[in-house]
Amino acid sequence: MTELEIDTPTGRQSSAPNGAENAEPRTTAPDGEVYSAAAAWYAEHWDPTISLAAWWERLADAGWAFPTWPVGFGGRGLSGAAAKQANRARVDAGAFGPPNGVATFLTAPTLLAYGTQDQLDRYMPGIVNGRDRWCQLFSEPGSGSDMAGLATRAERDGDEWVITGQKVWNSGAQFARYGILIARTDPAQPKHRGISYFLIDMEQPGVDVRPLREMTGDAAFNEVFLAEARVPDADRLGEPGEGWRVAMTTLSHERDPDNPGMGDGVAFGDIDLDTPVGAHASTIVAGVDGFSLAIGGGGPKLLERIVAEHGPSGLPATADPVARQRLMEILAQRRTSRWSSERATSAVKAGGQPGPEVSTLKLLGSHIARQVRDAGLDAMGADGMLWGEDAPHNGLFHAYSMFTPALSIAGGTDEVQRNIIGERVLGLPREPGEAEQRQKPWSELPRS
Ligand SMILES: Cc1cc2nc3c(=O)[nH]c(=O)nc-3n(C[C@H](O)[C@H](O)[C@H](O)COP(=O)(O)OP(=O)(O)OC[C@H]3O[C@@H](n4cnc5c(N)ncnc54)[C@H](O)[C@@H]3O)c2cc1C
Repeated sequence: MTELEIDTPTGRQSSAPNGAENAEPRTTAPDGEVYSAAAAWYAEHWDPTISLAAWWERLADAGWAFPTWPVGFGGRGLSGAAAKQANRARVDAGAFGPPNGVATFLTAPTLLAYGTQDQLDRYMPGIVNGRDRWCQLFSEPGSGSDMAGLATRAERDGDEWVITGQKVWNSGAQFARYGILIARTDPAQPKHRGISYFLIDMEQPGVDVRPLREMTGDAAFNEVFLAEARVPDADRLGEPGEGWRVAMTTLSHERDPDNPGMGDGVAFGDIDLDTPVGAHASTIVAGVDGFSLAIGGGGPKLLERIVAEHGPSGLPATADPVARQRLMEILAQRRTSRWSSERATSAVKAGGQPGPEVSTLKLLGSHIARQVRDAGLDAMGADGMLWGEDAPHNGLFHAYSMFTPALSIAGGTDEVQRNIIGERVLGLPREPGEAEQRQKPWSELPRS
């Protein structure tokens, strides 16, 4: 059953067209040596009694937090294969994982790709040691799938930009110190070309965050109202008007279930950095909510526990040949997904940009999550309907199941991924009128 575990990121190089992450790996030792070096470090340094903040700092300083990232930014510039060994050593040592959330799986890879040295120096330390939480301010009430149609404005005022508009579905924005934001800087340009990308301070007048409650009972999402909020020009990521390209880099990482910035442990929600890390380690599964589990990819790990404990006539579910068959299907799809992810990474390393293959990964990811949900609920039987802390597995699988449908929507819906695959992989014609819309100034497009 250990094959189902997915809490050890495979590690991959970022798709950065510039910057330090393109440097040659600093460690060329064979995989076994990386495992030994990491295991020795964990044996000496893992301490469940220190605070979560202190542990994350220690992990980042040593470069074991995100092993594929550059030295000095929480990593060691390792290859994906070597990083896998390092992460395996962490799991074997029972040590708690690095921080996990928008900061690590979206902001960091985009910063590594497009950030200036000054931006990297200012923002990466707080990301890799988990002190700064981030949110993603992309979607708008009228622009979700058609994100390029967004209407939030950014107007230049001296050395600053003044931001006005509304964003929605912003995960964890109520806890975020900073946000990655796309806004329209030139309405006279066609919709994809007049957008710029910013790093915004969420703790300022003019940023109003209002939580939205979902059917899970949690409030993971928010509406964010921006009323003349300010961003220094030094916090623009990429050139003015280049925001769409930068945002596509962010989304390609969001759609990759093997993104190395997406680990186990805490993803969203409020985190007390001062509690001993051991308290969190004991709740790697139980302490997180359904959202974190689904987005962070911990579902198969929980399924592993469930099938070991539930099943026909009190036997583990694995005693049932039909259940075994379903588990093997999930395993096979996860393997295929990883290989596709590695193929995409190799293409990027060879000088390309993230391509439409990430859309197949995204589609497969939401499909696998539904299969994990169904296999788990079948194994649990009526227990699967129980929720709350007294329910089996702290009610977490129920929460995961409730959250699973959201995975077909987050990061671009399944339908939109199918459109991308149809147009860019299969060569099917684009939607009627789309070519014309892409050429017209955004200000002349019809809007509801
Ligand atoms: C778990 C989760 C987390 C999220 N986190 C964030 C976040 O942190 N930050 C953020 O900015 N956003 C976030 N979102 C928002 C997400 O990106 C949008 O919900 C998504 O892009 C869809 O946009 P929409 O909700 O406006 O739906 P719409 O675009 O209005 O789509 C409605 C329906 O129409 C279909 N549809 C639309 N256009 C087409 C088309 N051309 N062809 C075929 N079908 C089409 C869609 O597939 C969908 O079924 C999150 C969403 C979820 C579920």
